[in-house]
Amino acid sequence: MSTQVETRLIDGKAIAARLKEEVGQEVSELIAKGIQPGLAVILVGDNSASQVYVRNKTRSSTNLGIHSEQVNLPSETQTPELLKQIGKLNRADHIDGILVQLPLPSHIDTGKILRSIIPAKDVDGFHPTNVGRLCIGKPVLVPCTPMGILEILRRENVPMSGQQAVIIGRSNIVGKPMALLLLQEHCTVTVCHSRSQDLAGICRKADILISAVGKTGLVTGDFVKPGATVIDVGMNSIQTLEELELLYGQDTKRRESFDKQGYCLTGDVNPSQVIGMAGALTPVPGGVGPMTIAHLMKNTVLACRRRRIDSKRSRA
Ligand code: NAD
Repeated sequence: MSTQVETRLIDGKAIAARLKEEVGQEVSELIAKGIQPGLAVILVGDNSASQVYVRNKTRSSTNLGIHSEQVNLPSETQTPELLKQIGKLNRADHIDGILVQLPLPSHIDTGKILRSIIPAKDVDGFHPTNVGRLCIGKPVLVPCTPMGILEILRRENVPMSGQQAVIIGRSNIVGKPMALLLLQEHCTVTVCHSRSQDLAGICRKADILISAVGKTGLVTGDFVKPGATVIDVGMNSIQTLEELELLYGQDTKRRESFDKQGYCLTGDVNPSQVIGMAGALTPVPGGVGPMTIAHLMKNTVLACRRRRIDSKRSRA
């Protein structure tokens, strides 16, 4: 396919930095009123990727002035013990947000755990009450990754009303809530998945194409309508030089990172084909990822305001 379009790479890091600055300002205002928002992150087991995610979340909250607690539990923790921990945090007034890092070890009942967090403190937005509220257009706490993507689209002034949006992936964490958020923005939404037929043909109709699959190089040039906005949610790792060259050609920065770490992060999009087709593209890393954490901070402050200020005001 010939190259016709100049592709703008969306700087998710910069957008996230601005969002965090705004959240930090809100935190300072709350602290001045004697209220410090608090976030508790629970990690079960020693999954190394989860440890990194949890560390980043607690570090980001501390940097913004949010009180943050990390609860580390051994991998042999059973569902009742975890429920007891969550119960304590549900009752703790200084904690506004509770997050259980997923995936949990397979012997734990994840659904039961997520349902045990009270909806007012469910900063991941996974509780059925919050999912239901999002579905009927009365969202309170919305899952952080789709909300971060919506924030990117808004702040990049991407037109949404009346536009065709195609989402690849139908998970509860990304694909489904993303579809609901884009419907609220008046997009015409199509959700594709592993059994969709003519995936490329459907995606080619999209003004906004969002891929949340976890498959390296899935989105090739023939998935993209010239000028479309492409949001790459996938987080995958490149393990071979051949794959690296196929996706990034002779990109020296990527090669240096690969040589240094022995692998390289990538998304679902094949950049060597999509750059030159898309109007705008979120890179991996540095696109959607930083927005997810920034939104967790925002949800924590929102949960704090609603529970400690708004609900008290409405009871008065
Ligand atoms: P998931 O495994 O729960 O869902 C993947 C979805 O992709 C499924 O709905 C499946 O039907 C669909 N799918 C699988 N193969 C397909 C194919 N060949 N064609 C079309 N659809 C296909 O994953 P998830 O939790 O939604 O995450 C998706 C990706 O996004 C992963 O790479 C994950 O690491 C990444 N992620 C990134 C962030 C972030 O902050 N950057 C946050 C969440 C998830």
